[in-house]
Amino acid sequence: MAGMKSAVPPSPPSIHPASAPSATPACERCLALAADPRRREPPSCLALRGTVPLVSQSAAGVPFSMLSFACRDCGTVWRLYDRANELFVSWVPERPLVR
Ligand SMILES: [Zn+2]
Repeated sequence: MAGMKSAVPPSPPSIHPASAPSATPACERCLALAADPRRREPPSCLALRGTVPLVSQSAAGVPFSMLSFACRDCGTVWRLYDRANELFVSWVPERPLVR
């Protein structure tokens, strides 16, 4: 008879959504952009931050430029990476999108 049970299960940490003010759900356009991150034109809700692209090189020595955008609707910050000799760009959100 091995009837030993651990008497107290570990209690899960309680979640307080109110304590996470940065969790604004992403708007439809940002979700659409995340689903199609290779298109060149920014959606209409994105505003360019700054005017000068950051120009750098990848670890493989491929030059690229990076522009920052912020969404007027949901505040998501996007980075647009444009690599030399590549047909497609890539949009990368600064933090994972919240649905
Ligand atoms: Zn948005």
